[in-house]
Amino acid sequence: MATPPSTVLRRGFTRRCAVCGQGHLFRHWVRMAPTCPQCGLRFARIPGHWLGSWFLNVCLAQVVVLGILIIGVAITYPDPPMLVLGVIDASAAVVVPLAFFPFSRTIWTAIDLVMRPADFYDDVAPGYLLEEDIARLRDERDAA
Ligand SMILES: [Zn+2]
Repeated sequence: MATPPSTVLRRGFTRRCAVCGQGHLFRHWVRMAPTCPQCGLRFARIPGHWLGSWFLNVCLAQVVVLGILIIGVAITYPDPPMLVLGVIDASAAVVVPLAFFPFSRTIWTAIDLVMRPADFYDDVAPGYLLEEDIARLRDERDAA
């Protein structure tokens, strides 16, 4: 039975390997191992792979900054302290991407694996590839 996409995405949201569920993928908060220590998945699957995680990180930072601004103005209306809100927003624009960085990487890897399942070129150890994908790849190999 193939691993359901919900399980793959849950692993991504908990900073685990999307293929095998292994944790401890980061040596430091922003320094990710190039491959999964358990299943061998190469995380940067294609050149430019991390652009997706960068996009997730930027989107979240913008939502938080805009949310702080809207809520701050709404609470203090009609005389919002724009300098204070600006300082808080600038701080959030720095802290949120750093805090979310490892999550954005594992979430993006999980999204990528759901959209483009692992194949033989991802260096995943035997036994960890999704069975459905193995069957599909065997069919493709046998048809060739
Ligand atoms: Zn793994």
